[in-house]
Amino acid sequence: RDMIQMKNVMMKYDNGVVAMKDLNLTVDPGEFVYVIGPSGAGKSTFIKMLYHELTPSEGDIVINNYDFKTMKPSEVPYMRRLIGIVFQDFKLLPRLTVYENVAYAMQVIETPDKDIRPRVLEVLKLVGLEQKLRRFPSELSGGEQQRVSIARAIVNKPQVVIADEPTGNLDPETAEGIMEILEKVHANGTTVIMATHNQQMVDEHKHRVLEIAGGRLVRDEKEGSYDSEA
Ligand code: ADP
Ligand code: ADP
Repeated sequence: RDMIQMKNVMMKYDNGVVAMKDLNLTVDPGEFVYVIGPSGAGKSTFIKMLYHELTPSEGDIVINNYDFKTMKPSEVPYMRRLIGIVFQDFKLLPRLTVYENVAYAMQVIETPDKDIRPRVLEVLKLVGLEQKLRRFPSELSGGEQQRVSIARAIVNKPQVVIADEPTGNLDPETAEGIMEILEKVHANGTTVIMATHNQQMVDEHKHRVLEIAGGRLVRDEKEGSYDSEA
């Protein structure tokens, strides 16, 4: 069974820009997929359609049996629980501590109180922040903030983690640390979709590469490099 299926997907913005054309692909459960391409290629459009932030103008998207076109509004929150999202700019809540930022993601889906603390501590340990539970985001380095944001993305055990340029604001060494955490998440069985400009990462941590150019999927390569024919 496919984890993600996109069929004849087209996205035309209100201003007439066609940002995605005739996109067809499937992703298996547990795959790690990079989405690469130059600025303006359509990577963000692709990512936003995947997490149902944008609705395609045409075509079908199915994630783990949730057909975006036919699901009921009451099903949307359940579909969203299948997905954890990591942003380039972290999007942490500034007035909450590290612990509270992660716990909040469990509170909003009404997890019983007694289950929250052990799980939050578990994921903060996984990302190496168990010593910084009481810090506020402003007291953390960029790499640490991104680790909090990954902890928040995985705390509810999503089937898919979608990361939009997660290392875009980080120096190479810090970026490598973030990548290693995403590798752990993947090794745990989670499907990972990561849009990136980071050539070194794509070349050193080999995974499937989807290359988008001008709104079209121009390459789909197992264990690909950043440059084709590299
Ligand atoms: P990337 O993430 O690869 O840089 P985007 O998906 O952001 O590419 O953009 C793809 C194309 O769609 C670009 O031409 C961009 O200008 C256009 N675009 C993106 N968002 C919007 C929007 N909200 N309204 C109109 N055009 C948009
Ligand atoms: P980096 O070298 O990744 O840029 P920083 O120099 O920003 O990291 O931070 C180094 C360490 O200092 C980190 O562990 C961070 O948690 C801590 N730190 C940074 N800024 C503050 C602050 N305003 N208050 C408390 N701790 C801080």
